[in-house]
Amino acid sequence: MPQTKMKQQIFEQCHHHFKDIVAIRRDIHQHPELRFAVERTAGIAAKALHALSIPVKTGIGRTGVVGDLEVPGATKRVALRADMDALPIQEQTDVPYKSKIDGKAHLCGHDAHTAMLIGTAKILSHFRSSLKAHVRFIFQPCEEAFPGGAPAMIEDGALEDVDEIYGIHVFPLYSVGQYATCAGPMLAQSDTFEITFTGRGGHAAFPHLTVDSIVIGAQFVTAAQSIVSRNVNPLDSAVVSITQFHGGDVTLQDGGASRALNVIPPSVELGGTVRTLQKAVQAKVKGQLENYVAGMAAAHDATYTYAYQEGCPVTYNHEPCATRAVSTARGLVGEKNIIFPMAPILGGEDFAYYSQKIPACFVMVGAGNEEKGIVNMCHHPQFDIDERCMIYGMALLVSLALTSQ
Ligand SMILES: [Zn+2]
Ligand SMILES: [Zn+2]
Repeated sequence: MPQTKMKQQIFEQCHHHFKDIVAIRRDIHQHPELRFAVERTAGIAAKALHALSIPVKTGIGRTGVVGDLEVPGATKRVALRADMDALPIQEQTDVPYKSKIDGKAHLCGHDAHTAMLIGTAKILSHFRSSLKAHVRFIFQPCEEAFPGGAPAMIEDGALEDVDEIYGIHVFPLYSVGQYATCAGPMLAQSDTFEITFTGRGGHAAFPHLTVDSIVIGAQFVTAAQSIVSRNVNPLDSAVVSITQFHGGDVTLQDGGASRALNVIPPSVELGGTVRTLQKAVQAKVKGQLENYVAGMAAAHDATYTYAYQEGCPVTYNHEPCATRAVSTARGLVGEKNIIFPMAPILGGEDFAYYSQKIPACFVMVGAGNEEKGIVNMCHHPQFDIDERCMIYGMALLVSLALTSQ
């Protein structure tokens, strides 16, 4: 089929299914589920594939769903991946489809990812006779929490016989109708660390008789800011963010809790995250953090503990897949709506695990709309998408499948 005719037919199909996909997205949005406990959402995906006569496996990676649209004579298999989990955050929007569950909300757009992959399955079923490769639909749980659902899915065979894999993410910093990606590292290695400084507590009026863990912790926080600026090559990327600092006692007085403002606490606990794009930079930051922790403790005659947890690895876009994704996207919306190469971002994404195993590419799908005030980034309590972005998300996934051979 000529390219322009195919493009027209793809968009016709995306518009045809749009209302249904919006309804599915809103239903999932109202019923958010966390981590691996995504049974309801997985049930919606499995039921939709089943209705299309696509063979479905459930319970993959604990609660994930895998469907295979098989094409007679095809030898290649392309996988398309959606994540299904929400976040433990209170939604602060006034939309009619607002989360019905306190403290849980789809503020990363995984509701839209699931709905779009269902829509993609519907559209590809329509185009079945034009497919030259098998298509695997992967619906995974637990993208938001380490160690992530992707390793569990891979462990259960989600990538078996798959030649390449694509994933998309709604991204409100780009407008509806835009796509962004790059070749090489796209999203960061996301690690965490936990530190304890233990000194000697005592009366706040006699600091010379204590080893003040608050001062040690505060000096460490300040010193750690120079790791990125003084130890990492300015042309490389890294983030060190200290996100936790706990210290100070609470005493019970007259049955109620009260802060002990006249007590120097014996210890403080700190924690944070490190984001990097290269192994050498990760090793440098990890080592320097410990140097600062040990040095600060030694300088004050305190002791310390330091635990560094390596998290989700770098999401790496393989050159041929990125090239194919970009030329496919360009064919859909024209050069002016393509951001390529987009600058890597230091957010983490467990699509990384697939990209470590087989050729892969992850694409950001513009979901923002300044006029409608849809500008808040993922994980913001007022995050939302312009739902028309789902037309473009589906169009890209459908086109990638149709051009696989
Ligand atoms: Zn997220
Ligand atoms: Zn996400």
